[in-house]
Amino acid sequence: MNTLALAERLAEEHDLEDGELLQLLERRDPETGEYLRRQAQTTARAQYGNQVYIRGLIEFTNYCKNDCYYCGIRKSNQRARRYRLTAGEILACCDMGYALGFRTFVLQGGEDPWFTDGRLCALVSDIRERYPDCAVTLSVGERSRESYRLLKEAGAQRYLLRHETATERHYRQLHPPGMELSRRMACLHTLRELGYQVGAGFMVGSPGQSPEDLVRDLRFLKEFRPHMVGIGPFLRQQDTPFRDCPNGSGELTLFLLSVIRLLLPETLLPATTALGTLLPDGREAGILHGANVVMPNLSPEDARGKYLLYDNKLASGAEAAECLEQLRESLGKIGYEIPVSRGDSRIETA
Ligand code: SAH
Repeated sequence: MNTLALAERLAEEHDLEDGELLQLLERRDPETGEYLRRQAQTTARAQYGNQVYIRGLIEFTNYCKNDCYYCGIRKSNQRARRYRLTAGEILACCDMGYALGFRTFVLQGGEDPWFTDGRLCALVSDIRERYPDCAVTLSVGERSRESYRLLKEAGAQRYLLRHETATERHYRQLHPPGMELSRRMACLHTLRELGYQVGAGFMVGSPGQSPEDLVRDLRFLKEFRPHMVGIGPFLRQQDTPFRDCPNGSGELTLFLLSVIRLLLPETLLPATTALGTLLPDGREAGILHGANVVMPNLSPEDARGKYLLYDNKLASGAEAAECLEQLRESLGKIGYEIPVSRGDSRIETA
């Protein structure tokens, strides 16, 4: 079958065989890409209208006990300037975000042991108490079932934990010994069982990633059906073992956004900061390819310069929460609006 015919079947049936997905990725051409883009945009609009949901991202600690080869805040990076926001600073970020119209706060950080269950739970319940109409999302990596349970009880409703890759071999290429794909996957299942809205995802073009690996990522997503799927290009960071690896492709990231929108019509799909960093107007391009979420940065100025997962990470302009008007305007130009809303996923929770 030619690739356009495969794309048509994907748009119609919201699935393809693995071999067909592989063909679609390997033989993609601009015509097929444009067809998928239009179908993905139409599908996103059928689910979420012309609304783009926003989340206020608070990068609250860059201490990390892990040593992921791709990540700029890995433990072995001696050049990272480490910081940890105080509860007061985090609440101040929320205050600013609330005034700007954010109704979801995403607390993201390295795996920082200083944030014990007690401290993190206190933080979550403070935010929930202060803003009962807001959702709190956590993105703090792998923790125990008991920890996830306590955090849920404290009021966190959502959790982002990218699976990074669904392929064992590839997982070992990206992570040092001791980090296990099976453990990450178990965390995702636990989070779902506990009733979180869960986000999974991966980097596009991370070192060692083959088209077959990408097909396994897509199959995992289709089967797991996360409430949100976060994908962005891999971008090298100068102080990591992957400093000389090529960046992921923006074109492939956009293509995959469209494919994922068609595989999972109801999922929340962010146009990520990494995409915005790689491509001029990456946010807008993401939305036009089927994404429906953006996560502007609410972190204090000083922290933004230190949460450097990759080189040249954007933290100003439409990336910055205080420039929401600018984002509103640029999305307005392509026919989208930003509601003052929690922006829940249409996928049911456990
Ligand atoms: N400690 C948390 C948050 C990690 S940072 C956790 O483990 O989930 C959030 C995401 O940024 C990661 O899941 C990874 O997919 C992405 N990321 C890290 N380094 C990156 C890089 N060099 N290029 C692109 N994305 C990167």
